[in-house]
Amino acid sequence: MDFLPIFLNLKGRHCTVVGGGEVAARKVALLRQAGAQVTVVSPVLGDTLARTAEVGEIEHIAEAYTEALLKESVLIIAATDRREVNEAVAEAAGRMNIPVNVVDSPDLCTFVMPSIIDRSPVMVAVSTGGSSPVLGRMLRQKLETTIPAGYGQLARLAKAFRDKVKTKFKSGVDRRLFWEKVLEGPIAEMMVAGKEQQATEALEKALDSAGATMPGHGEVYLVGGGPGDPDLLTFKALRLMQQADVVVYDRLVSKEVLELVRRDAERIYAGKERGVHAIPQEGINDLLVKLAKEGKRVCRLKGGDPFIFGRGGEEIETLMEQGIPFQVVPGITAASGCATYSGFPLTHRDYSQSVTFVTGHLKDGTINLNWPALAQPHQTIVFYMGLHGVQTICDQLIANGLPATTPAALVQQGTTRHHRTLIGDLKTLPGIVESGDVKPPTLIVVGEVVKLHEKLNWFVPSAME
Ligand code: SAH
Repeated sequence: MDFLPIFLNLKGRHCTVVGGGEVAARKVALLRQAGAQVTVVSPVLGDTLARTAEVGEIEHIAEAYTEALLKESVLIIAATDRREVNEAVAEAAGRMNIPVNVVDSPDLCTFVMPSIIDRSPVMVAVSTGGSSPVLGRMLRQKLETTIPAGYGQLARLAKAFRDKVKTKFKSGVDRRLFWEKVLEGPIAEMMVAGKEQQATEALEKALDSAGATMPGHGEVYLVGGGPGDPDLLTFKALRLMQQADVVVYDRLVSKEVLELVRRDAERIYAGKERGVHAIPQEGINDLLVKLAKEGKRVCRLKGGDPFIFGRGGEEIETLMEQGIPFQVVPGITAASGCATYSGFPLTHRDYSQSVTFVTGHLKDGTINLNWPALAQPHQTIVFYMGLHGVQTICDQLIANGLPATTPAALVQQGTTRHHRTLIGDLKTLPGIVESGDVKPPTLIVVGEVVKLHEKLNWFVPSAME
């Protein structure tokens, strides 16, 4: 994190802006919206600031900048068009420990001004840390369109009822459930549509009828976190991740995906490395039940798709038996993610009419597959958990009739910034695993489609840095 986002209370506090042009005018306007008392230091003022000074909304010091003029500010903005003046302001502010922003010079700033979506009292701020204000503005536009204008009203309504709701519901979980119902339901809709009185009455009624012991129903969300790239999450996955009180996650869930769970949610690592299980499967099933029975919303976050070699079936079976409500959210499975990001389709009219997902690792540690059925031409075979058994896999496919020259790929940490594709064939693949220092999670893909990597490879992992 390059900058820590905070929201400052500037009401009645003194800020200094050095510079009198249009850029300075925009900063002054923002500071004034936040209630600051602003002094502008500039020998001359542009039209906008001249008008603002005329009506007495700012104090104007019509002098060239000197350090003595910065005294007693809580914030300083340098917005002149002269680099040496801006540098001098930044240097002086630094010495005085006053936060300083220098327009268009992120290197001189101790704070940056975000793009903001103002739904006061709700504020959303977007920052690119000074690296791309245009990108910041584009993001802002997107958010502007998705956050209804009435959210400010809604926040005011929530504030007005905060204490009443607190008195009514003793438990924090119950309070949150109540508010979620209110803020996602018809009451919120009324408020956003400007029907304030109706919304207030409805909220009053909802509070009366809810009863002091509105039960805190736990629930489990079995969520597919995809292969690694957080952009591959579904909207539903993201929403539930941000709603959960506790997240139980696997080793395969990428750091970037995990960062998107609600910040104050409890995180429990459930492990699952080959042969090393932080918590055994039965333990995980029981844990989910226990947490849900405590009234928590539990996000069971898994790599890829929970229903593809993810033991999702076993987990919801236990939930079903225990009568715990649950939802399952599919995710992009490793085969889809890896093939796409490695630039070869899993099926192709010329090369492959079907694709088979196979596990290269059975419960008892053996690989006991129907080799004759797998070793068929014109199909793609994807082996999950196959790294350990790569030699057996290649030997068996050859022994059962596939040419030793059948193309095969290893895709390691697919869709992440460490994405790696190694191409060989059934003869060479085991050697590549050994010499290439290949580590899990890695997928093995066998079939003619793999050849297309050379032509269609498009993904640049370093672009994710
Ligand atoms: N439910 C998951 C699969 C779990 S099995 C899914 O749908 O993707 C674990 C195996 O998946 C690993 O051994 C590896 O073979 C594969 N895998 C998962 N994520 C991967 C990734 N990002 N890159 C390569 N292989 C991956």
